Amino acid sequence: MKLLIVEDESITADYLRQGLTEAGFLVELARTGLDGHHLAMTGDHDLLILDVMLPDVDGWRILKALRDAGRHAPVLFLTARDSVHDRVKGLEAGADDYLVKPFAFAELLARVRTLLRRGVAPPLDDRLEVADLVLDVPRRRATRSGRRLALTAKEYALLELLVRRRGEVLPRSMIASQVWDMNFDGDSNAIDVAIRRLRAKVDDDFDPKLIQTVRGMGYMLDLPDAG
Ligand code: CA
Repeated sequence: MKLLIVEDESITADYLRQGLTEAGFLVELARTGLDGHHLAMTGDHDLLILDVMLPDVDGWRILKALRDAGRHAPVLFLTARDSVHDRVKGLEAGADDYLVKPFAFAELLARVRTLLRRGVAPPLDDRLEVADLVLDVPRRRATRSGRRLALTAKEYALLELLVRRRGEVLPRSMIASQVWDMNFDGDSNAIDVAIRRLRAKVDDDFDPKLIQTVRGMGYMLDLPDAG
């Protein structure tokens, strides 16, 4: 498996390259955004690890160029920024996962392996559908059976995350890190409350019920009989 790391901070870059090489990956490293952009567009990487904050061409631009060129290799973003806006922006731009610095190498390795198992990400669609639930991504609107759901911005972000990862059990910690400004040790009760509110809007008046609780693990969105 061939990975590309684009990271300008040399300590982090060397640490990542060494760790991932020892874990058995073939690793290419770019220390500037410009080099990273070139390698991303010309290489055949199975996964890319992109630092968001680069002095020349930032991680978002590399990601956008990659997706615009029809390249769908999974992308893991490294960000020092801890804001919902940046995460939502990255998710919309086609990032597959995030890690907020500083992170433990074991956590990065686990994310890399999960992304590689999941394989090539499908192209981003403007319209996402599960049964009669439809998300209009550019307008950030959701409908069920043609009825507009009155969602807050965060409820929409949560719903979009669940829909994009349809059929996948999302741990509370992952939901917290991607939708809220919360750490992995964040109060998981807040996630349960948010899911309850979302479920009231998405599922209470409609069938089938799409948001599923996976006891002891987290939440998943899918058709009930999809296993
Ligand atoms: Ca940086």
